Amino acid sequence: MIKYAAIIINSTSVALDRMFTYAIPSELNDKISIGSRVLVPFGKGNKKNEGFVVDLFDSKGSINKIKDIISLCDAFPLFTEEDLTLIKIMREKYLCTYIEAIKVIIPVGIVDGMKLKKENLIFVGNPLTDKLNREPFISICKTVALYNGQYNKNKLGTEFGFSTSSISTMLRHGCLIQREETVNRYNSRTYLDYSEKELNPKQKEIVGKILDSKKNMFLIHGVTGSGKTEIYMHLVSEMIRTNKSSIILVPEISLTPQMVERFKGRFGNEISVFHSKLSKGERFDEWLRIKEGKVKVAIGARSAIFLPFDNLGLIIIDEEHEGTYKSDSDPKYNTKEIAEIKCRIFDCKVVLGSATPSIESYFRAEKGEIELFTLENRADGAEMPEIQLVDMREELKNDNRSIFSMKLLNSIEDRLFKKEQIILFLNRRGFSTFVSCRKCGYVFKCESCDISLTYHSHSNMLTCHYCGKKENFNKSCPSCGSKYVKYFGIGTERIEEEIKKHFPLARTLRMDFDTTRKKDSYENIYNQFKQNKADILIGTQMIAKGLDFKNVTLVGVIAADLSLNLPDFRASERTFQLITQVSGRAGRGNKKGNVVVQTYSPDNYSIICASENDYTKFYKQEIEIRKLMVYPPFSDILSINMSCEDENLLIKCIQNVGIILKNNVDKCDKINLLGPNPCLISKIKDLYRWQIIIKGEITMDFAKDIRKTIYDLTKDVYNNIRVSIDINPTSLF
Ligand code: ADP
Ligand code: ZN
Ligand code: ZN
Repeated sequence: MIKYAAIIINSTSVALDRMFTYAIPSELNDKISIGSRVLVPFGKGNKKNEGFVVDLFDSKGSINKIKDIISLCDAFPLFTEEDLTLIKIMREKYLCTYIEAIKVIIPVGIVDGMKLKKENLIFVGNPLTDKLNREPFISICKTVALYNGQYNKNKLGTEFGFSTSSISTMLRHGCLIQREETVNRYNSRTYLDYSEKELNPKQKEIVGKILDSKKNMFLIHGVTGSGKTEIYMHLVSEMIRTNKSSIILVPEISLTPQMVERFKGRFGNEISVFHSKLSKGERFDEWLRIKEGKVKVAIGARSAIFLPFDNLGLIIIDEEHEGTYKSDSDPKYNTKEIAEIKCRIFDCKVVLGSATPSIESYFRAEKGEIELFTLENRADGAEMPEIQLVDMREELKNDNRSIFSMKLLNSIEDRLFKKEQIILFLNRRGFSTFVSCRKCGYVFKCESCDISLTYHSHSNMLTCHYCGKKENFNKSCPSCGSKYVKYFGIGTERIEEEIKKHFPLARTLRMDFDTTRKKDSYENIYNQFKQNKADILIGTQMIAKGLDFKNVTLVGVIAADLSLNLPDFRASERTFQLITQVSGRAGRGNKKGNVVVQTYSPDNYSIICASENDYTKFYKQEIEIRKLMVYPPFSDILSINMSCEDENLLIKCIQNVGIILKNNVDKCDKINLLGPNPCLISKIKDLYRWQIIIKGEITMDFAKDIRKTIYDLTKDVYNNIRVSIDINPTSLF
């Protein structure tokens, strides 16, 4: 008989990151299982603490003093045995604690919002008695008949202008009934029907192969508009038919309204939409609906990977190359890796899709670890847009110092005249501070790391944020001698101002971080543009994703160099992706689209390949460089990030950590340590930030070793210094 339980205490302390044994009192014996949340006495004062059951056994072994579990918190366990397997793997893989892993599986909102919402609602009762057979009672009767059980007493009053005392009178006479009911907080808005399409032969082949294959991991490399979404929907239908569940992941739900529209339009309320903007209550209701098996399909951002489906058959990861699939808070999990682990646990299928697959995924597909499918043409027969490169150095020679080339200005004028729409795109991610020559396009780079140097105005130095190399900045170009050497920085506001100067009558909309901070602003801007209420949409990478406007025939990329010169080994990959994605916004209807890409580096392979729409050519060059420089997928990167209000304390501490880690690292010949260095963003919210980068063949044991060393060294300053360890981060800022 089971008498004891291993418990993980709900505490952020690293020291408590282990299992504690408790006895199960007999009255709870058949109620407690793996995943149950319980209250236990903990520590010297036996303070009541929350904990989670992770193991059950019948003997307490050698432990002699053992305490009893106090009580059970919920009617059902919060995670399953499969989840527990995942929790254990995450703890190892992402160097996090049990509780951190548990908390991503059952997000805070679920635990806190752990109550169904109940309300006293008004229903139709007996027919009106003779005494009440007059106004306002007749009207109230009619209204309640229309909205039976949808309103409580107060709402019914305020919404339709009835007095609550009249409603009370009717309740007393039994002509209305008041009853407590559960109110659903999930979105039950109806969407336009999106009818099923007959698949073309290529799509049919892919769906068939995915369903029949012995493999479980697939990558669909298909140009934008090639019909990937239609394939996803057919796979989901097939899962529903065989009574299995599906999870569809998108990079950011608010940025992909069309994806939700289409899935809702096809599957109706069979599908649950899960994202960070849901209230705690909404989140809990959706979660419970899934846990109880009432829905079989969910669409959401990365955290939806953890939704509690049993009998999971399919996980789709759309735009799989996007950085948002990597979590930026602890545990810093990678959604694609979690999907792969779930795929082993549930024996389900994982389908990755992208027009520009990540180098890592494509590399695995080439090695045969993932089955690859390619779609080369648009499904509705539309032509791919034509992409033209404009060499901005030539503009300077011709005395055009504006941020727009002549080519782009003429094209904008032409589309305004034809009443077609335009998207202007600034491929800026965060910020940039690289320095380049406007005459010849030369970019200052670190020779050992092959990434752009960053300019620091206070010291007038150029710094490499990987290896820490510094050099003086003299304001002339080492390549052509020109004095026209500057650091680069323009924003979307500046572009809007310039457009107004050139085209005072053009109606513009701006979409960037500033204009979309409010809850529905993204959707508002999106709808305004869709309804043709503006001619030009100006935006950052936010507009590069899944938008589908039939009337857009021109896309302008203002400065391809902005992403190309980010101090990041993925800069070329990001540039290729951004240009390809944003180009895909042009010519979605029956008119052909044009793309104008402005750049100071028209010879760069990622820009050329993007303009030729040639992913494989880009991949071949990029993978060679990764191999040469030993960047992923040929190595792993472990970043150790420390932040603190006191810069001196921080530097002292991280240098100490650096020296000791270097000793460890020097024993392995295939691992390098870079730093410690200030991070590219060297201060956030009053916290100074420094980092150490470890690059090479990093095994799980080695990483665990490193973590232990770091925690031991920072134990005493734990309250002052924040330490964060990330394995294969998406960026090193
Ligand atoms: P992707 O997801 O690759 O960007 P979509 O699935 O959105 O591509 O398809 C692009 C367009 O082609 C959409 O308007 C879609 O309705 C249409 N489409 C996709 N598959 C078919 C098909 N088999 N027959 C007709 N139209 C299709
Ligand atoms: Zn130059
Ligand atoms: Zn360097």
